[in-house]
Amino acid sequence: MDCTTQPHDDDKFHEECGVIGVWRVPDAAAVTALGLHALQHRGQEATGIVTFDGQRFHSHRGLGLVGDNFGDAKVIASLPGTIAVGHNRYATTGETILRNVQPLYADFEFGGLAVAHNGNLTNAHVLHRALVRRGCLFQSTTDSEVFVHLIAISLYSTVVDRLIDALKQVVGAYSLVALTNNALMGVRDPLGVRPLILGRIAGSEDTAGWVLASETCALDIVGAEFVRDIEPGEIVVIDDQGVRSIKPFGRHVERFCVFEYIYFARPDSVMEGMPVYDARKRIGAELARESGVEADVIVPVPDSGVPAAMGYAQESGIPFELGIIRNHYVGRTFIEPTDHIRNLGVKLKHSANRPVLEGKRVVLVDDSIVRGTTSRKIVEMVRQAGAKEVHMRISSPPTTHSCFYGIDTPERSKLLAAQHNVAEMAELIGADTLAFVSIDGLYRALGKPGRDPAKPHYCDACFTGEYPIARPDQTDNAERQLSLLTES
Ligand code: SF4
Repeated sequence: MDCTTQPHDDDKFHEECGVIGVWRVPDAAAVTALGLHALQHRGQEATGIVTFDGQRFHSHRGLGLVGDNFGDAKVIASLPGTIAVGHNRYATTGETILRNVQPLYADFEFGGLAVAHNGNLTNAHVLHRALVRRGCLFQSTTDSEVFVHLIAISLYSTVVDRLIDALKQVVGAYSLVALTNNALMGVRDPLGVRPLILGRIAGSEDTAGWVLASETCALDIVGAEFVRDIEPGEIVVIDDQGVRSIKPFGRHVERFCVFEYIYFARPDSVMEGMPVYDARKRIGAELARESGVEADVIVPVPDSGVPAAMGYAQESGIPFELGIIRNHYVGRTFIEPTDHIRNLGVKLKHSANRPVLEGKRVVLVDDSIVRGTTSRKIVEMVRQAGAKEVHMRISSPPTTHSCFYGIDTPERSKLLAAQHNVAEMAELIGADTLAFVSIDGLYRALGKPGRDPAKPHYCDACFTGEYPIARPDQTDNAERQLSLLTES
């Protein structure tokens, strides 16, 4: 076995957050912690849970993984109650400080409110400045606190009306869960870019427990059954009367994030009715149809390239082999290798499985190329293990644009596909050939006839540059919006 040089996952787009809320569930904190554990892939920098015991709210938030914070029974015992919200955070701006860790909590005249949020408000900066001018004192630098202040200054009386009032002022891609003294609420943005699902924990209609979560994988671990996706623009209110749905935004064409299928979601989740694992295999099969090549072996870049490589192998009839082995025991705290160690070729996260690769024409399948640094190292590693040819196949179209909708991405100038054509990229990463699935092929794999340019079904802005949600913070309109808000 050969060794790798350093962790490779850094050369990916990163999902920013995972959220969960539970209603009338015994040991709500423990159940929420289990759900957060299942959602760990959506954020590893910090985590938090707020519970309500009928009298008081209880909160624990901390930096690090779910297990680091909630593995201690004493911490869970300090969070009594049967309703809770939880959050996993992936920090993007370098500020993983405790005051930014969610859920955020605030006391209002109507009682307490805890909010956990996934996504990005594209007018957060504008709103933040307007709110500060009005005298709001911000405790954090997260978009989520904008929600809290908008709710605080709303003139409506009920918390649901205040939430609707706040939502009508924000622009962006988000899902959120919120907890009050007497209700759990879930919201998806009007285009449904970020995911949120509803699950039910067995009981009679009157006693059933309810779960809101970013992905269905959080339901399985807590023994809940999937009920449905929260619809784009829908607010779900769960209280002692049951579950009710409010749709204050009218109808919009939905634009679910297509990258959830490609990479972000856990493969055992089901999103918008489609198993993610199947979607990835189908994209791989489409890739094989579009960009087949004579080869001896199909090798996934683990772990995220595995289902697409399986689909590619099945479609092409070329054997699937684990030619790269991932070391799962490399923690984030592992020491950074020194140049000396790196030059020795000590590799932390991936190893080449030489007997599978030596003398072979290899098709490497990965989900995306962001900066290209990972791909170059993987290709080099496979060549060093004796591969005769290395053909790279990517189960997404070229990533040419940054995401402004809650995904951590490098600026556009750092995206390899924004700067180079496919032939140049192949040369830069050292592959004999390189091909990406086409945007139409991606849509076909997801059951659509292709991409309808007049009405795309998904958000695919990082591949097309067509951003479906306005970005006031990025435009010259910011000042104008600011003055409108200040006047209102
Ligand atoms: S720009 Fe890309 S990553 Fe961001 S929401 Fe749209 S499809 Fe998803």
